[in-house]
Amino acid sequence: MTSSARPHLNRRLAEFGTTIFAEMSALAVATGSINLGQGFPDTDGPEEIREAAVRALRDGRGNQYPPGPGIPELRTAIAAHQQRRYGLACDPDTEVLVTAGATEAIAASLLALVEPGDEVVALEPYYDSYAASIAMAGGKRVPVTLRPHEGSFRLDLDELRAAVTDRTRLLLINTPHNPTGTVLTREELAAIAELAVERDLLVVTDEVYEHLVFDGAEHLPPAAFPGMRERTVSIGSAGKTFSFTGWKVGWVTGPRELVGAVRAVKQFLTYVSAGPFQYAVAEALALPDSYFEEFRRSMRERRDILADGLTAAGFEVFRPAGTYFITTDIRPLGEKDGFAFCRALPERAGVVAIPNAVFYDDREAGAPFVRFAFCKREEVLREAAERLRAM
Ligand SMILES: *Cc1c(COP(=O)(O)O)cnc(C)c1O
Repeated sequence: MTSSARPHLNRRLAEFGTTIFAEMSALAVATGSINLGQGFPDTDGPEEIREAAVRALRDGRGNQYPPGPGIPELRTAIAAHQQRRYGLACDPDTEVLVTAGATEAIAASLLALVEPGDEVVALEPYYDSYAASIAMAGGKRVPVTLRPHEGSFRLDLDELRAAVTDRTRLLLINTPHNPTGTVLTREELAAIAELAVERDLLVVTDEVYEHLVFDGAEHLPPAAFPGMRERTVSIGSAGKTFSFTGWKVGWVTGPRELVGAVRAVKQFLTYVSAGPFQYAVAEALALPDSYFEEFRRSMRERRDILADGLTAAGFEVFRPAGTYFITTDIRPLGEKDGFAFCRALPERAGVVAIPNAVFYDDREAGAPFVRFAFCKREEVLREAAERLRAM
């Protein structure tokens, strides 16, 4: 996006004027379109968790500044979740930090761990806050592009190895991956871990979709691989897992030295946030397995409704193994420019989507791909599918 509307935005951030989501959401409203652009659910998470937040508010828990690292109940629940799901032990007092969503966790981690001029290797297409956060830290982003291969986007391990130089400080890994829906495999993660150990790199992992994996795909936290625990900052969030994206409760886990560094930065970004919601998220993390299974099942059903609809409408569909996004290729429709396609789609079909090119440095590589979110009610997805088919 251009920064002509922001003449005062500094040079580090000039390229990050406005996000595509604002433009596309405005288009959705103006045209009365179904908005499958931005990834937020159109129904709230579990009633009992919402009630837990109400209770905390009423009981006066969290209405004043909570402790800087997060309330003990939530830090304990996060540590228990890492232990129960992944066998990863962390000390709730020194190795867990509650943040204002994963977004703050990402920004604080990069600000804490990157020196100006350091190179940060990130998977491309990348979540939009990565580039801005790397820039805020004065780092240099080095993208490694995931490429379509037999129905999904895959990491080329040789390209990844070649991207690491003597100036590389940190690998920024996102799995399950937004926007492609790729879930990195055990073999890929083992190779990433080997590289990180060999080149003595820090690793920041964005795992906000850890509970959204389908068809037997398994989420494996990079920190669980040999040699990784001591060099990895793992990031999670309640927003996507519990369908409360407005609460902005995220967290960081890792060794105390790294978490301590992130905490040092976080105290001057937000200091604390979301007091009463922290109590509710502590309860959410302790929900029985049946919650997580049902959430997955219901999202898989929605994925299938939208994926089938997009296929019927003529898109090439990369059926995601994780996240709540579907990346499509528009070339079978005789189109090749995702930007132009997405700008015209609201008028043509009454549906809003996002051009994946915004997630690329190499805009050319991302040009034919378009992302649709399926975290919406089934009838909304059916209607969107119908509109696209009629286009
Ligand atoms: C939504 C999202 C985030 C941001 O999470 P918040 O907890 O809402 O800040 C971070 N990373 C990825 C990949 C996301 O899709």
